[in-house]
Amino acid sequence: MKHIIIIKYGELSTKKDNINYFLKSLKNNISNNLSDIKHTITYDFGRMFIDVTEEDIEKTVERLKCIFGIHEIIVGFISDEREILAIKNNILELIKDKEFKTFKVVTKRSDKNYPINSMEVSRTIGGHILKNIEGISVDVHNPELLVSVEIRKNEVLYYFNGLSGLGGYPVGTLGKGLLMLSGGIDSPVAGYLTIKRGVKIEGIYFESPPHTSEFAKEKVIKLSRVLAKYNSQVKLHVINFTHIQEEILKNIPHEYLITIMRRMMYRISAIIAHNNKCNILVNGESIGQVASQTLTSMRVINEVVKMPVIRPVACFDKLEIIDLAKKIGTYDISTLPYEDCCTIFVPDHPVINPSSIKAEEYEKLIPYKELIYEAIKEHEVIYVGVEEDKTYEDIL
Ligand code: ATP
Ligand code: MG
Repeated sequence: MKHIIIIKYGELSTKKDNINYFLKSLKNNISNNLSDIKHTITYDFGRMFIDVTEEDIEKTVERLKCIFGIHEIIVGFISDEREILAIKNNILELIKDKEFKTFKVVTKRSDKNYPINSMEVSRTIGGHILKNIEGISVDVHNPELLVSVEIRKNEVLYYFNGLSGLGGYPVGTLGKGLLMLSGGIDSPVAGYLTIKRGVKIEGIYFESPPHTSEFAKEKVIKLSRVLAKYNSQVKLHVINFTHIQEEILKNIPHEYLITIMRRMMYRISAIIAHNNKCNILVNGESIGQVASQTLTSMRVINEVVKMPVIRPVACFDKLEIIDLAKKIGTYDISTLPYEDCCTIFVPDHPVINPSSIKAEEYEKLIPYKELIYEAIKEHEVIYVGVEEDKTYEDIL
């Protein structure tokens, strides 16, 4: 008997007409992720099989746990012995060290020419298990151990309870989005939730040197690196926001600093998204969290772009966001103590009910179009992978 990894799809199986597209993408995503591990992948509409050497099983399973589109990961066994006696003995060998009080056997025959029907195979195996292991019983509704046997044309497949995968859709199947990524807790979580829906993300980060430090930028790169585990490489656009922010600070009434600053961020993000074939903007705004996230603020800020803005954590409590940040591995990085450009320019009394007319009037006080073009022209791109990142200079 040898190991085989089996993947079940979950929500993907509900895709009728274009299931092939989703499965092909999932296969490619897995293949890319396992590029350093020798493997072969085969699949049908029910599941995917990944064959790797014995010593790579654990590493492979760890990687699969971070890939969207996978509902369940099972390490099963495959054998070319198809006689019922061999099947009975193999099962016993496989379960003898497992701890369980109740079990159930489910048999499938993809080879309908097999001389014994599925029910009969299950019954025979069940009887054999009961005879050989003491203190256990059959529970057909809620068994602790589910023994699955599949009789195929040239082999028999055995598997037991699997591990949960992340679910969602394979990354890239729904196109691309641009994540406004600050060093905070919310935006990486927003990014993760978007990737989960099959959207590949690129990141955009606004920095204001020397008001913000290199450490703040490092923190965003580190967050991108965590997201890259789920997304594959993250293309991170870094925008120097200093000139725009200083102009805003100098010329605009302070209660509108944040409103105008965020309208500028939105405008720049929409252009970068457009230039990079991203269909949506994504950010970590959460209703009511700060003055710029009241409903009126959101409306006045959102007005400057036509592109849809997805806010995956808009309706989450902070504690729910923190829980998820801990689960995906971004929390410890997000809580490192480095200022970002928003926190530095927070006025004492930001407006909570801004008016669009006033925002438009105030914006006329600065040459914002020129400032935006300048910032975009100068912007830096960093490719952040799980392990190493590359700048343009490294690549060219
Ligand atoms: P987070 O919301 O990620 O915890 P934060 O609380 O510092 O960070 P907010 O002031 O709540 O950020 O801003 C709301 C959203 O705007 C962020 O979630 C992020 O998507 C975006 N944003 C804020 N600052 C920046 C920045 N410097 N660069 C890119 N996006 C930013
Ligand atoms: Mg926030």
